[in-house]
Amino acid sequence: MALALRLGDRGRCAWGRCAAPDCRRYFIDTGRRTPQRYCTPRCATRVRVASHRAGRTAA
Ligand SMILES: [Zn+2]
Repeated sequence: MALALRLGDRGRCAWGRCAAPDCRRYFIDTGRRTPQRYCTPRCATRVRVASHRAGRTAA
């Protein structure tokens, strides 16, 4: 937590919750150019695949 506060001092808020609906983990953004939304790339891929599948079954 101290680390997160330190990173926040430098600029933007550098941590958040994973955007995957079935994942409740938190992550610390290590200062990449693009803001991070998921705790791991695995979560990002899973959500993308799930939404892709949902679109397919709907169509
Ligand atoms: Zn996650």
